[in-house]
Amino acid sequence: VKGYEGQRVAVLGLGRSGMATARALKAGDAEPLVWDDSAEARDKAEAEGFTIHDLGKQGAFDDVAALILSPGIPHLYPEPNKYVALAWQAGVPVDNDISLFFRSFATQDWDNFDTIPRVVTVTGSNGKSTTSALIHHVLQHVNRPTQLAGNIGVGVLDIDPAIDGEVVVLELSSYQTDLARNLTPDIAVLTNMSPDHLDRHGGFGGYFAAKRRLFAEGGPDRAIVGIDEPEGAYLANQLATSATDDRVIRISTKQKLAGKGWNVFVRKGFLSEYRKGRQAGYIDLREIEGLPGVHNHQNACAAYAVCRSLGLAPRVIEEAFKSFAGLPHRSQTIANINGVRFVNDSKATNVESAACALEAFKNIRWICGGLEKEGGLAGLAPHFDNVKKAYVIGRDARKFALGLEGVDLEICETMEAAVSQAARDAEKGDTVLLAPAAASFDQYDSFEKRGEDFIAQVNAL
Ligand code: ADP
Repeated sequence: VKGYEGQRVAVLGLGRSGMATARALKAGDAEPLVWDDSAEARDKAEAEGFTIHDLGKQGAFDDVAALILSPGIPHLYPEPNKYVALAWQAGVPVDNDISLFFRSFATQDWDNFDTIPRVVTVTGSNGKSTTSALIHHVLQHVNRPTQLAGNIGVGVLDIDPAIDGEVVVLELSSYQTDLARNLTPDIAVLTNMSPDHLDRHGGFGGYFAAKRRLFAEGGPDRAIVGIDEPEGAYLANQLATSATDDRVIRISTKQKLAGKGWNVFVRKGFLSEYRKGRQAGYIDLREIEGLPGVHNHQNACAAYAVCRSLGLAPRVIEEAFKSFAGLPHRSQTIANINGVRFVNDSKATNVESAACALEAFKNIRWICGGLEKEGGLAGLAPHFDNVKKAYVIGRDARKFALGLEGVDLEICETMEAAVSQAARDAEKGDTVLLAPAAASFDQYDSFEKRGEDFIAQVNAL
């Protein structure tokens, strides 16, 4: 990290990103002062040689240049963080690791490079990981140097972009964009908008505002915006200076985009790119196994638009799409047994993402249930036609089943029972789909563990 040489910088929260921040500050000749309410986390940091600094004590922010806050710690809503409030009082800038990345990135000496590395950011309510991974995959496919980091599991300060022509792809959540003082992507993507994390942002307006910060005035060279929701349509409209402004690429899976700008949309599984009213490229997405369903077609539109912005040809992008295997636990086909497809979408923890999964397949033997989320199962009913039978798991299986009116179902409770019953019932052409529409914490530590259990049970068949 550049820009804090010889200065004291406080780091609050010592999880993965906090520890990476402390290390990066040290490497940049700054003096990190670290704190976490958990004694265990502090001990680990101390063992690594970091200075523990109680941010709650009198004068804790004296001679501190900045407070770097972990994305997992709320600063304002649902209630102000006590340490952050002290920093505010002391006038110490509060910032985060994403910002440090952009800050040091912008101050690199790029004079010796022909093509400086470019930063692509991907945000949105759903599809961030898939879109980011897909962009990264296409770039790897064409041997373009590229790195993937952010919300996807690799800290931004754990990567070190330095190669000429490299593309850094960052998946960013609203938790990360909300606080970052420096956000200067070259290409910024907003996939879609639906209510999520509302308590953390003080409502939908705050949530949208956090994401919009990536598109601020004087912002990215190119903005790629999903306009199927009014927020995206509004944002794209605000960013474009005229109807033919190339700075904005609009994407949609719900409508044919007829304007004279730069548009990428999907109709009946067919992706089309139009520029200034003329078709500039297309891909038949029905041929792409790794991107099933309309929701993945939206991700494909966004990734396609990014790759086109980076100068790749449609045919090259199409070739790369064909070898995309998908991300673990997201519409992931894990086996084909006697004409029955087994799909792991354990990441479908809410009704929206489960609805996408139910829409993407036919003749579904649906494994669902777990810890029910607020709002019940309304929103799934339009897709029940695709479901042959539901196999309900989880502690609240019986309660969950009440929301599945009109669906043939069986209470299985465990994954093992559900997979073996679904496999027994399945006929050629069916899809056994894990898309729980619920959190996993009643039976598992995480949605990943739940997905792994599903895979293990399928393998045991
Ligand atoms: P995120 O990183 O935004 O959480 P993921 O790519 O990890 O998104 O996908 C999360 C869940 O949402 C998965 O269950 C997936 O099937 C579903 N999903 C993926 N892309 C989209 C999309 N564009 N719109 C709606 N749901 C999606």
